[in-house]
Amino acid sequence: MEILKHVMDDVIKRNPNEPEFHQAVKEVLLSLEIVAEKHPEWVKDKIFDKIVEPERQIIFRVPWVDDNGEEHINRGFRIQFNSAIGPYKGGLRFHPSVNLGIVKFLGFEQIFKNSLTGLPIGGGKGGSDFNPKSKSNSEIKRFCQSFMLELNKYIGANTDVPAGDIGVGSREIGYLYGMFKKIRNESTGVLTGKGLTLGGSLVRTEATGYGLCYFMNEALKAKGKSFDGATVIISGSGNVAIYANQKATQLGAKVVAMSDSNGYIYDANGINLNTIRKIKEVERKRIHEYTKYHPNASYTEGCDGIWKLKCDIALPCATQNEIDENSAKTLIANGCYAVGEGANMPSTIEAVDLFIKNKVIFGPAKAANAGGVATSALEMSQNSMRYSWTFEEVDTKLQNIMKNIYIKCSNAANEYGFEDNLVAGANIAGFTKVAEAMYSLGF
Ligand code: NDP
Repeated sequence: MEILKHVMDDVIKRNPNEPEFHQAVKEVLLSLEIVAEKHPEWVKDKIFDKIVEPERQIIFRVPWVDDNGEEHINRGFRIQFNSAIGPYKGGLRFHPSVNLGIVKFLGFEQIFKNSLTGLPIGGGKGGSDFNPKSKSNSEIKRFCQSFMLELNKYIGANTDVPAGDIGVGSREIGYLYGMFKKIRNESTGVLTGKGLTLGGSLVRTEATGYGLCYFMNEALKAKGKSFDGATVIISGSGNVAIYANQKATQLGAKVVAMSDSNGYIYDANGINLNTIRKIKEVERKRIHEYTKYHPNASYTEGCDGIWKLKCDIALPCATQNEIDENSAKTLIANGCYAVGEGANMPSTIEAVDLFIKNKVIFGPAKAANAGGVATSALEMSQNSMRYSWTFEEVDTKLQNIMKNIYIKCSNAANEYGFEDNLVAGANIAGFTKVAEAMYSLGF
C-alpha cells in the first residue's frame, strides 16, 4: 500500500484497541490501491479517508430487570456507517463479545456487501454485549423492549433498518418491532427478519445460507466443479449454517460436520438436519446432544478441530476469525478445493492469502453471504408496497442477485488484473459504486 497507507495508519491511530475493525479495513484497502491509482479525483476528494469513518456512532445504556428482580446494565450500539446509496441497513448482534470495534468491523463490511447486492441500501450494524444464552423468554423480552426504547430514536424505514445477526432471530425481532410499534404507533418496514404474520418476507430465514450456496455454485461452475457428490463441512449450527446445510444437500452434497461454540459433531453418513433443528431451534440445547440420537456420530470438544476433517468444500458459518493460517494449511493439505464464507470475516487475512495463493475457489463473506441482506431489502420493498411475493418469486430473485454478485466480483477482478481473486473483485466492485455516490453527493 502506498497511496492508501496513510488511511490505514490513521484508522489505527484513531481507533485504538479495535483489532477486528483494523483487520476489516486493511483487507479492503489492500485491494483498493489500484483503484486509487485509476481515480485520482477520489484520492483528492478524500473518499478513501471518509469511507473508513462512520457517519454516526450511537452508544447507549440498556437497563433491564431479570426474573429475580435484579437490575442489569448492558451497552447498546448502532453504527450508521454509510448512507451514500440508501438507508443504513445491517443486523443487530447480541453476544457478550460485542464491543465498539466488532460493531464497526461489521458495519464497514456491510457497506460493500450491501452495494454488491445492487439494491439501494447503505451500511450499518448494531448490537449489545447482552448474552441471550440461558435467559428466560421474559428476560429476552424485557431486554429487547429496553433496547428499542432507546434505539427507536435513531431508526426508521427511510433512515436505518436493522435486522438480526448472532443471538437475534425472529423471536427477538418480534419483541423489538413490538416495542417500536408501541412507541411510534407505526406499521413500517423498520426492521427486517420479521415473522410472516408481522410483514416478514418468505425466504428471509433461509436467505443467507441459500444465497451462500447459490454464490458458491456459480464460483464452482466456473471451475468445472459442483456441490453434487462433494463432501462439505459447515461450522456453526445457527441460522446461516442450518440453511447452508439444507441447500448444499439439495444440490447433491453430503454435509458431514457442524459445530456450536462448544465443539463439533462428525457424522460420516451425512448430518441429519432435522435432528440439528430440533436441538438448536426448538430445544435451544448444545450440539453434543446429536450423538444421543445418532450413536454412530462423534462429538469433539473445541471448535478448531472441525477444520482438520477432510472435505471438498468448507463453509464457515459461525463467527469471525474461526479459520486461521494453520487451519487453512490443514484444509488445503487435506484436499479442500473451495471455501465459502457464510459468517462475517471468518478467515484471518493470512488464511485468505493462503487460499488465494493455492487457487482454492474462495467466496469472500461480503459477496457470498449477501443473500440475507438482499432478501431483507426485498422485505423492505414488499412492506412499502403492502404486498407479499411467493416463496418461489423471492427465491428466484435471490438466485439472480447471487448470480449477479458473482459476475460483478469476477468481472471486477479481471478488469483490475486480479485474475480469479474474488476477494479483490468483491472489494473493488462494492467500493466503486459507493465511491461514485459519495463523490456525486459531495459527502
Ligand atoms: P446464530 O446466532 O443463529 O448462530 C451462530 C452460530 O455460530 C451458533 O451455532 C453459535 O454457537 C456459533 N458461534 C457463535 N459464536 C461462536 C464462537 N465464538 N465460536 C464458535 N462458534 C460460535 O447466528 P447466524 O447464523 O445468524 O450468524 C452466523 C454468522 O453469519 C455471523 O458471523 C453473522 O454475522 C453472519 N451473517 C448472518 C446473517 C443472517 O442473515 N443471519 C447475514 C450475513 C452474515 P452457539 O449455539 O453455541 O451459540
